Amino acid sequence: MTITAPADAVERAVARPLVEIRRVRKSFGAHQVLRDISLDAPEGTVTVLLGPSGSGKSTLLRCINHLETIDGGRIMVDGELIGYRQTGHTTHEMTPRQIARQRRGIGMVFQRFNLFPHMTALENVTEAPTGVAGVPAAAAKARGLDLLDRVGLADFARHYPAQLSGGQQQRVAIARALAMSPKLMLFDEPTSALDPELVGDVLDVMRELARDGMTMIVVTHEIGFARGVADQVVFMDGGVVVESGDAAAVIDAPRRQRTRNFLESVR
Ligand code: ADP
Ligand code: MG
Repeated sequence: MTITAPADAVERAVARPLVEIRRVRKSFGAHQVLRDISLDAPEGTVTVLLGPSGSGKSTLLRCINHLETIDGGRIMVDGELIGYRQTGHTTHEMTPRQIARQRRGIGMVFQRFNLFPHMTALENVTEAPTGVAGVPAAAAKARGLDLLDRVGLADFARHYPAQLSGGQQQRVAIARALAMSPKLMLFDEPTSALDPELVGDVLDVMRELARDGMTMIVVTHEIGFARGVADQVVFMDGGVVVESGDAAAVIDAPRRQRTRNFLESVR
């Protein structure tokens, strides 16, 4: 008898890491916030970062996206070092221009939606493509409408943020991040600021993105989302990875007491 692995398992097994984090350290003054973080996010997979407040989750996401610099270790995205370039054996810091290019490949969605209040939903989405990437206005608009449709907001293109619910604003923020065609999406507690009844629509959009093959790293306390959507779960505490692995395994059968305690606290 031959046992064949399901096609998607094979695909996952060969997926190379889109994000490689190796022994990353980061301190603020004397406070060491990331102590020695290593993790891989394979291409086309969803990684959920769990952990108590202050464990360094946001800092880690911010280091991936150039919002913080690391003190040691390295971060690679799509085969490129973040923040540095290498010529031969020498490593140089990137120029602001190189950093800007790298950042364009990474979309980030924050807990607070950070939309421009004086711009419509559509203008928020087209601002970076037209302003930064030089996409012609008509093309940016067509794609912007398409993206708003994708997040369920086709009818809200001309609305201003103040006219939208928190959940709708967050979906505009997701569309805005997608407008630059990122190869990686980072989400930092995207539903934590939302009224409970608005959380589902945002998670649905994220679930759809995952289904379409987007590589995502998501900080969230939504355990149901983690179990249903994540390929791997990484539990952090005190600036270290305490436990990581298959989402269902970590959530349903955590090996470490600290993980168990945390999961009990958020359930
Ligand atoms: P989490 O997202 O897991 O709650 P953070 O990464 O936001 O954790 O923060 C980890 C620790 O680093 C916290 O103790 C926080 O106060 C500290 N920290 C984060 N950003 C800064 C900063 N810019 N300056 C000083 N301390 C910071
Ligand atoms: Mg945080």
